[in-house]
Amino acid sequence: MIDTSKHKGLRKKLVDKLIQKGIDSKEVLNAINSIPRHLFMDKDFESHAYIDKAFPIGSNQTISQPYTVALQTSLLKLKPNQKVLEIGTGSGYQTAILVKLKAKVYTIERQHNLYRKAIKKLPILGFKPELIKYGDGYLGIKDYAPYDKILITAGAADVPKKLLLQLKIGGEMVIPVGKNIQEMTCIKRVSKNKFEKEMMGKFSFVPMLKNTN
Ligand code: SAH
Repeated sequence: MIDTSKHKGLRKKLVDKLIQKGIDSKEVLNAINSIPRHLFMDKDFESHAYIDKAFPIGSNQTISQPYTVALQTSLLKLKPNQKVLEIGTGSGYQTAILVKLKAKVYTIERQHNLYRKAIKKLPILGFKPELIKYGDGYLGIKDYAPYDKILITAGAADVPKKLLLQLKIGGEMVIPVGKNIQEMTCIKRVSKNKFEKEMMGKFSFVPMLKNTN
């Protein structure tokens, strides 16, 4: 698992591209610049790691496009030590970005194969989320709720009610909503029963699926 100067150079170019596309959070750009995305992909495909595209990671899933990771992370407006629930660990790359930004991360994955890889890989690379859970993201993780932020990295047909209720008052969720094409949606819990929504543009995600087995 090596990170060469060539990888670093390609990563810098990717960061420049993200700046051109409008990402302006220094912390997020810095995290992308420092985390070797190629180490979250199969070795044979590492030449694809620094292209701004989603890429298959097995089990019919993809590692999200770097721009999407950067945008979703920026929308979270993370502060150090905030508690973040991530739905869809996948490759673990987005999880690593959140850990790098000093969030306390609880992440859930429903594909056992991806879960198994992520629990091995993240600690080896030095990223220690609070919890990596195998299970159904629709349920969230009630034991550790409420969360400052909830990030959904798969396309949800509707906003899962159980997840909304695991947000702190004042907490925010970033979720792509829609069946075929998703609208990036930011939802703020302004009081116990009041939520405010803001739409941030169209994206394409793999679907958030129901049931673990
Ligand atoms: N954050 C990941 C993105 C992976 S794609 C990365 O950077 O690699 C979305 C992930 O969400 C997939 O791994 C998929 O298996 C997972 N997923 C889909 N529905 C889910 C659910 N109900 N609960 C938990 N994970 C889910």
